[in-house]
Amino acid sequence: MIKGSCCCEAVKFELLVKPSMMGTCHCSRCRKVGASTIVFVKREDLKWIQGKEHVALYQPAPPYKYGRCFCNMCGTSLGEILSEEDSFPIAANVFDTEFDLKNQFHEFVAEKPSWYEICDSAEQSEGHPKSS
Ligand SMILES: [Zn+2]
Ligand SMILES: [Zn+2]
Repeated sequence: MIKGSCCCEAVKFELLVKPSMMGTCHCSRCRKVGASTIVFVKREDLKWIQGKEHVALYQPAPPYKYGRCFCNMCGTSLGEILSEEDSFPIAANVFDTEFDLKNQFHEFVAEKPSWYEICDSAEQSEGHPKSS
């Protein structure tokens, strides 16, 4: 069981299995909400422990379409944890349990600030991996 929680621990959940993939997005929006490194989880593997009512959603104006969830008490970024999709990204920062998964890609590296240096050998794409 992999445990996840926000900074103030109002929000707690578990994953029944290890996430399938980890990647890092260097776009300004992921950077500003503090959710650049994400893991992909299946909705059926996510088990809520407490605090779902504390999860707020910021839905940006088009053309941006990805909703950003966060704890309404402490502001911890939670990725798309309220998504109704079968699989969705969660911020990798929120896990309390260690698991064996390494970053597998970097996307939107064209928007990466110069102070952040990529120090792994994961695949890089200028924008979204699927469109480049
Ligand atoms: Zn919190
Ligand atoms: Zn991004």
